Amino acid sequence: MSAWKGTVGKGFTADAFSDYVATLAFPAWRPQFVVLHNTAVPTLADWHSVPGDVRMKNLESYYQNGQQWSAGPHLFVADDLIWVFTPLNVSGVHSPSWNSITWGVEIIGDYAVEPFGPAVRENTLSALATLHAALGLNPDTLRLHKEDPRTTHMCPGKNVIKAEIVQGVHDRLAVGEHVPGGLPTTQGGRAREPLRPRKQEKKPGDCPVGTGAATFYINLWRRLPAVMVITPLVVALVPALMAAFVATLMAAMLTPFFAIPVTAITGVYQLSAIRSGR
Ligand SMILES: [Zn+2]
Repeated sequence: MSAWKGTVGKGFTADAFSDYVATLAFPAWRPQFVVLHNTAVPTLADWHSVPGDVRMKNLESYYQNGQQWSAGPHLFVADDLIWVFTPLNVSGVHSPSWNSITWGVEIIGDYAVEPFGPAVRENTLSALATLHAALGLNPDTLRLHKEDPRTTHMCPGKNVIKAEIVQGVHDRLAVGEHVPGGLPTTQGGRAREPLRPRKQEKKPGDCPVGTGAATFYINLWRRLPAVMVITPLVVALVPALMAAFVATLMAAMLTPFFAIPVTAITGVYQLSAIRSGR
């Protein structure tokens, strides 16, 4: 079990989040791009049934003790607040191929079924613009979790459209609300560490919140083509082979019994044919 990296566990309005990120330094780790997720479970409709700070504590317990990971995603974006979970200047756990080089941003909700409404959309675009501005990242580099070749999760759901997100972040950066180019590339006169992959998790994290029933069925749905091919093969092939075997056996056993009546019938037929002069 990797050492737990700790959490921030605080919720910010979009503006307060921008101010918060401006205070951060990245002496040891900085991401190359953002991976966008949705939580699936909880849904956005369900999110406010538990206070946000309690959600953060529950998530910490889930990742640290349940999953035994070293961290979780960096942000959880709700329709009211942007919650910082894993500190933004350490690597998180959320997408198996890209944990060591990305920020993981979870939009709260299940956007396979829930509408991606204006409030949560605004907070998502604002949070993403802040992140991209802070380190001078290009929004075109953003990936969805489901683009990770090592995941089977359909994350985020289809109602989150990548092109719209990327364009929305570009628009916000262009307005100058956030300063493109980000923080200075050196801190304390010392060049930042070169980017290199860090050691991988023993159990690489994979959109860990959505491990409920929804994700199970989504995964099943993704595997449907394979299931549809393999299942009929197994269902058809096994009885067919058994039937063929039994039929062969029966034929071998019953041939003498059939042979007598068949010979008798054909004999009678031939006899009647001779008699009728054909
Ligand atoms: Zn995900």
